[in-house]
Amino acid sequence: EAGSFCDIVREHAQERGDTPAFTYGEETITFAELDENSNRVANALAAFGVKKGERVAFLGKNHPLYFEALLGAAKIGAVMTPVNWRLAAPEVAYILDNCCARVVFVGEGFADVLARVRGQAPDVEQVIGIDAPDHAGTDYRIWRDGFPARPPATRVGLEDDALQLYTSGTTGRPKGAVMTHGSILSSRDAVGQGEMRSWQEPVEGDVTLLAMPCFHISGTGTGIGTMVAGSNSIVLPEYDPTKALELIENYNISKIFLVPAAIQILLNHPRVKEVDFSRLKYVTYGASPIPLELMREAMEVLGCGFVQMYGMTETSGTIVALDPEHHVPEGSPRMRSVGTPLPGVEVKIIDEEGNTLPASTVGEIATRSSKNMSRYWNNPEATAETIDEDGWLRTGDAGYLDEDGYLYIHDRVKDMIISGGENVYPAEVENALYAHPKVADVAVIGIPSEKWGEEVKACVVVKAGEELTESELIQHAREHIAGYKCPKSVDFIEALPRNPSGKILRRELRAPYWEGKD
Ligand code: ATP
Ligand code: MG
Repeated sequence: EAGSFCDIVREHAQERGDTPAFTYGEETITFAELDENSNRVANALAAFGVKKGERVAFLGKNHPLYFEALLGAAKIGAVMTPVNWRLAAPEVAYILDNCCARVVFVGEGFADVLARVRGQAPDVEQVIGIDAPDHAGTDYRIWRDGFPARPPATRVGLEDDALQLYTSGTTGRPKGAVMTHGSILSSRDAVGQGEMRSWQEPVEGDVTLLAMPCFHISGTGTGIGTMVAGSNSIVLPEYDPTKALELIENYNISKIFLVPAAIQILLNHPRVKEVDFSRLKYVTYGASPIPLELMREAMEVLGCGFVQMYGMTETSGTIVALDPEHHVPEGSPRMRSVGTPLPGVEVKIIDEEGNTLPASTVGEIATRSSKNMSRYWNNPEATAETIDEDGWLRTGDAGYLDEDGYLYIHDRVKDMIISGGENVYPAEVENALYAHPKVADVAVIGIPSEKWGEEVKACVVVKAGEELTESELIQHAREHIAGYKCPKSVDFIEALPRNPSGKILRRELRAPYWEGKD
């Protein structure tokens, strides 16, 4: 009986020790090496005095040794916290201070940032450089190899904290979501019960390209999931379409998770039409809505199975998925759905008071499963607002379930616009505007209005070389959606503010209009 993912890695090490677990450029780490080296890390951390339940942090680009360190920490019940390296120094400081890590692993290029923020993160005592020549302090490999390879004595079980990831900060300050070993292994349990979907099944020889950042659940979740399945992750330090295409050609990549923005970049690559994608079995995608047009193009060019995923940091990643069978390009409204709940996951739609709403009625999406985080770190108020006594977690997303249990995402509850007493969901308006041939990108927000309370405004990026007027676009909207949903005004802008996952930062667009009013 596996108590943690550490036990599963140990099993792989015993049964197929020579199999590669991680590949990074020329370097390969086998399961035997991963198990042995993470024992050394565990012993090194224990020698430093790191206790069960303590947080350690990682600030750097994707690296296989991040997973080794994560595993080593987990073996003594310590909790890895990857920090988003794209954040500005004060934001990095906030997370480091919030998670209280004493030991921080730093990747190449980030020693400077860390040095600058140490004053604001007084808990940090020990900094260990992972392949970071710019870092003068302790070198990870030397540090690790100074400790014995025997397994540490600490017992770690399903109820113990395993990981702490911060939310993307799309709607406010990032919050630390605490995941237990149980949350992380629950997908595997479903597999064990023979309930998994075909695309979840681990297949001998599968190779996964890890291209999304490990500071998001998409990256770390992919890495751990692949490790638990006993297959090989090819790690890219950060997303790069040229390298991704090269690896797909040369490494028999069978699976890859990409956010919609990354799929778009891949399709725009000049070489994309020359690449042989025949060995690629699945592209899984999610984290933000995908425009239908982009989906159609991706299906045509890549020709593999597509699986849409819906989930969040607080649910250890995917909880609802749209299987490849439903990716029918024409005619099916199901293409707009994010699919059905995974085995063991419950989903319901609730109103503001928490009452369950009937099928086809829009409300807030709530979910319950062992994938739910145990809590927000050091934030009992936010935890109490998010998870009720029965274990239902409010996602903050608005949506509805159809008669057959397919989930449709509208928007974040916070982004909903109430105009003249009517609810307007930005995504619906955005889809209508996006269908205009001259629109390259669009975001819809609510701005203050004396008459309507809030009114709909569209922020639009026009395709290069095209001209578009406000009245032309509003006229187009009128033909497709109800009058009260149509924008009252349009701002034409150069580019939309998005985070690296492609999420529109609507709060940035809203800010100038709401100054002093919110
Ligand atoms: P924060 O909670 O800090 O504001 P965030 O919610 O963006 O940031 P994440 O946990 O990384 O942080 O993202 C989860 C959110 O991403 C979901 O709540 C949902 O709004 C969005 N999302 C995830 N998958 C999909 C999908 N397939 N389609 C549309 N939106 C999605
Ligand atoms: Mg969120």
